[in-house]
Formats: sequence, structure tokens, C-alpha cells
Amino acid sequence: MISLDLPIEKLHHVGPRMLPRLRRLGITTVGDLIRHFPARYEDFSNVIEIGAIETAGEVVSVQGEVVKIETVRSWKKNITITSAMVSDASGGIRVVWFNQPYLEATFPIGTLVSLSGKVGLDKRGLFLSSPGYEKISQAELRHTGRLVPIYPETEGVTSKYLRFLIKPLLDYFTDIPDPLPPDIQTKYNFPDYTSALKAIHFPVKLADAEPARKRFAFEELLLLQLRTLQDRAAMQALAAPAIAFEKELIADFVKSLPFTLTNDQRIAAFEILKDISQPHPMNRLLNGDVGSGKTVVALIAAYQAAHAGYQAIFMAPTELLANQHHATISDLIPPGISLGLLTGSKKIHPDADIIIGTHAIIQKGVTFKKLGLVIIDEQHRFGVKQRMKLIKEQTLVPHLLSMTATPIPRTLALTIYGDLDVSLIKEKPKGRQEIITRVVPEEKRPEAYAFIEEQIIQGRQVFVICPRIAPSSEGAKSKLLLAEMKMVTEEYEKLSKTIFPHRRVAMLHGKLKSKEKDQIMSDFKAKKYDIIVATSVIEVGVDVPNATIMMIESAERFGLAQLHQFRGRVGRGAHQSYCFLFTSSPEIAMTRRLKAMEKTNNGFELAEMDLKIRGPGEFTGTSQSGIPDLAMASLSDLGLIKQAREEAKTLLKDDPTLARYPLLRENLARLQRIVHFE
Ligand code: ADP
Ligand code: MG
Repeated sequence: MISLDLPIEKLHHVGPRMLPRLRRLGITTVGDLIRHFPARYEDFSNVIEIGAIETAGEVVSVQGEVVKIETVRSWKKNITITSAMVSDASGGIRVVWFNQPYLEATFPIGTLVSLSGKVGLDKRGLFLSSPGYEKISQAELRHTGRLVPIYPETEGVTSKYLRFLIKPLLDYFTDIPDPLPPDIQTKYNFPDYTSALKAIHFPVKLADAEPARKRFAFEELLLLQLRTLQDRAAMQALAAPAIAFEKELIADFVKSLPFTLTNDQRIAAFEILKDISQPHPMNRLLNGDVGSGKTVVALIAAYQAAHAGYQAIFMAPTELLANQHHATISDLIPPGISLGLLTGSKKIHPDADIIIGTHAIIQKGVTFKKLGLVIIDEQHRFGVKQRMKLIKEQTLVPHLLSMTATPIPRTLALTIYGDLDVSLIKEKPKGRQEIITRVVPEEKRPEAYAFIEEQIIQGRQVFVICPRIAPSSEGAKSKLLLAEMKMVTEEYEKLSKTIFPHRRVAMLHGKLKSKEKDQIMSDFKAKKYDIIVATSVIEVGVDVPNATIMMIESAERFGLAQLHQFRGRVGRGAHQSYCFLFTSSPEIAMTRRLKAMEKTNNGFELAEMDLKIRGPGEFTGTSQSGIPDLAMASLSDLGLIKQAREEAKTLLKDDPTLARYPLLRENLARLQRIVHFE
């Protein structure tokens, strides 16, 4: 008897070698296994007969038997050449691989292989040149003409092995209980669970997989929504200080500011003030482009809290930013409200009404007397754990406001950020200059340097950003840091020794201690350097109004949202500012993606584009979050997300604990275990 919760090690063919590998994929039970979905399908129905190969240059897929194989070494060219003859009933073809001598042992005579690749021609005739290959079994050969599922790749677990495990299970189970409530099933006309499983793993044609895929995506999105809504409800069940909104007080404060608030700033402030007047904790995200003026909005709420006798803390990701906020806020806050500063190196008035600091505030286990509001800058999400740390001494849970300049597309706001309320600041304060952005072709580089020199002569400053290198494998983080550092160091050497030897150039990278980084940034701010060469560590909110040039190397390696963040480092003062994008090859310079940077200064537009092009994992850094693949893939489908949200609301309204849907509840618990948002 095989049941869905049977541990996979009970299956034949899952031995001690494969078990840990499967577990790494999150597969521990038979149920997990059949819910491990293919990422795509390989279409072997296009396999042609070997005898039908006619022209050099065409790309073909063939299957046949290895009838001859040998490897020779070409001493002249210092390469090895493995040649095989592969035949089917219609004929034979020569196959050639270079520098893969082990293939001789992989494909002994008699092996059945599936090959796809390009047809080449030399003096001995047509041949297949270094084709992709897969050994196949007789059984599968008989199944040519079908779609073969290809599963997400992981070291040591091949698609072939997974097919081999999953196929018999799907034949075995004929009626698996469906976790989706029957009403939903009918309403959306989804295929039933068992046939959907068969169709997603082994579709006869691609069109059969689609409804199945949609059904499972919907189910995963529904689970995400249920989780989010339950988290919200749990938060709403807690008690927070109700901080009454004193309209006159706030109106007077707003009048005292050196500028007029934008409409969006007003609305956001109002939403926040309304939230904190409730006896339940606020959980709100303030999302606004760089320079949109989030700080003052948060300050309005902090002022209201302080005036009502509650402490507010304001956390920034770095000491530099904390100092920066402390300076700005000191200028704006009315008398009578005390300000504190708490960072790794400074501790001024730690029991003030408003305390500005870094994460040192929570790490040091400082206790607060009457904490009413927590503001987190430059972070999309404040971990539940971190929040718990803060509330341990409190009888009431403080309200939480997080702020980010990373534009969050609506689809993501409704899913992975769905437990947060979002306030948006879309318009910038009046009179802000547009930054001029150009993708610069390599031959124009000297011109760009000349332009930079001119800006420096006029007293301006320059950022140079070096690329981030994609980690090649897991655990490559430290290698990555090293590689980044190497690039920065080389660029630094080049600029400081060859191009701008007469200028003061500094270097900033992730290997430096945060104190050293802060020091360099403070010195840059104090105009002790003309040029700063940095990795992406520069990204968050530093304010250097005198900097007018942002120059980015290998810009194609960054996401649009991130490029936009970099660009936001300039254009913060009175001077016209520029963003120059360089690419590692001329073709890339022409791509639409980078050209979009020239066209728009609107972070939201760029973020939506990024989401479409690169997918949500890259975009949010959630690729490791454990969010189910299909849900992930559907994170751009606003329609489907909205439907799932509505259905989740309806379900929870009648049945907050999902008592009537035990399977759904079980899957939700499983999701709870694997999804980690931090
Ligand atoms: P961000 O949203 O990037 O954190 P800040 O809060 O740092 O932006 O604001 C950027 C600058 O704009 C600050 O110098 C701030 O004083 C100023 N500012 C904020 N709101 C307005 C406004 N309504 N009009 C003019 N300047 C503003
Ligand atoms: Mg800011």
C-alpha cells in the first residue's frame, strides 16, 4: 500500500544516496514527490529519422544505437576527438564531440541515445557536431513522440530519475482527495485533482498541461493568500496603544515644515495616523521612490506618538544613514520633543522620545519604557522575529511602519507582501530635476571621462559602480565578495593611476567593516574625495547632494530597479545630474531593458518591467524563499492573484480555522514550514 504521506525512503529506488538529494528539493513524502512539478517539457515528438538528415546547418533530434565509438588525440591541436556512429532503422550518422573523452565510457556500443544538435559537414560528409545527449532506455524509445517533463535542475537528481519515480505513482493513484474546495473547483472549471496531476507531469500535448498548471498555480496562490490573511488576523487580535490623531497638532507641525507636503505625502501620513489611532498594531509599508520624501511622513507619525507620551524608534540600515536622519530630524522636530541616537558607536539620550539608530537598537536588547511606534527605513519587510524581540518587554505591541524605495509591483504587494498595508508616494516634490541617463557605447568612453573631469573641475563628485557577479553555485557568497572586490580594485587602480591620477579616488566594497564604509562615505560627503568606486554596497539612501555623476560598469548585470536605486544617489542637490551606463558588450548596449533607463525616471514603471523580464525571484531576492514554484511563476498574473485573494477571504470569513477543509489546512501548515520571507 502506498499512501501520500509515505516517506520516500520506503519507495524502491530511493536509497541512501538519493534520499538526501530529494530532501534538498523539499521532497520527503510520496505526496511531495507527485507535487514536484516540471518546469518545462522537452518535445521529443520532433525526433526525426537519421536517414532524413539532409543539410548541414540544420538542428535535429535523433535517437538511435551506438554502433561504434572511439577517441583520438589530435596532438597538433591539443584536443581529444570522440567519434561515434549512431544508427536507427533508417540509417546512421557520425557524431563528434571535442574534449569529452569520458563519453567513450558513457556510451558503450549498444547504448541507446537521444541526441540533439547541429548538423556539420566536413570532407567525410555530414555529421552531428557536439550534440546534447541523453541515454535512453528501450521503454522510452518506444515513447518517442511524447512530451517529456523536465524538472527544475538540482545536482544529482535528474529529470529522468524523477520521471522514473513519478510515473508509476501516477498510474497507481486513481482517486486522490482534492485539497481545493469543490465550489472553487466547479466555479473555475478546473480539471479534477488526479487528472490534473497526470496532465502536468505527462501531458500528451502542451495544451493539456496548461489547465493543470493553472489549477495548481491557483491552489498555491490560494494558500499564500490564506496564510497572509491569517497572519493579518493574528496581528489584528493583538493589542497596541491607540494613539489619538490630534488634527490641530499635526496641522501646525506640517505648517512649520520648510516645504509644502505633496498630496501623496499627505495621504500617506493620514493613512498612518489613522492606523496608529487603532488599538491594534499597524503593519504598514511606505513605498515611495528615492527622494519622494518618506522621512518626513514617518516623522509626522513619530511626532504624534511622542506627543501622546509614547516612544518612537527610527531604524536605519547603516550608521551613516542613522546619523543623516538624526541631523535632518533635529532640524524639523518642534521643541519639547527629545531626540536620541543609538548606533554601534554612539549612544546619545537612549531614553528620548524619538530614538534614531541602527539595528543595534534591537541587537543590544535595549529596553524601552513605552514603545508606541517602530519605523524601519530602507527595508521591505521587518522580520516577525525581530518584531518579537522588540515587544518582549511591552504589554502592548508597537505599531510598525517600514519604508522602502524599491517599488513593489501590485502583484507582489498582494501576495508576498500581502500581510502589509501599503501606502504609496508616487509623485515627487515639485521642482525636482530629471536625471539625464545615457547608455554609453564603448567608443565614447573617453568622452565620458572628459565630461567627468569637467564636472570635477566645477567641484562636483562622482560615483562609479562596479558589477555584481552572479554566484555560480550555492554557498559561493564569500567567493562572490572576493570577485566583486577584485573588480572594484581593478577599476580603482585604473581610475586612480591611469585616468584620474590627479584626482582623489576612494574605494568601497563589501569586505570592509561597516565602520570603515561609513568613514569613507562621510569623507566623501565632506568632499575629501572626488570619485568613489564602489560595489552595490552604495545602494541604500546615502545623501550626497554635491555628487552629480553616477557611472555604472557592466550595467546589464543589475536589475532595472537596482539601477534606478543607484541613479537615485545623484540629482539630490541643485546641480543637473547624470547617469552613465556602460555595458560589457556593444550588443547589450542596444537592449530595450537598458534603453528603458534612458526613457523613464519612474521607478514603478521600471519595476513592472523588471518583474516581467526577470521574474519575481530576481526582483525581490525571494528566490530562496520557499515560495512554491508555480505561485512564483504566477506572481505576474494579477487577475489570478485577485481571484485567489477573493476566494481566500470568502473561505476564511465562514471558517477562520479552515475546519471544513482539513486538506487545505494541512497544506497551509506545510507552506508555513517552508516559506520564510526574511
Ligand atoms: P526618501 O523618500 O528617499 O527617503 P527623503 O525623505 O530623504 O526621501 O527626502 C528627500 C529630500 O526631499 C529631503 O531633503 C527632504 O527634506 C525633501 N523633501 C521631502 N518632502 C518634500 C516636499 N514636499 N517638498 C520639498 N522637499 C521635500
Ligand atoms: Mg530615505
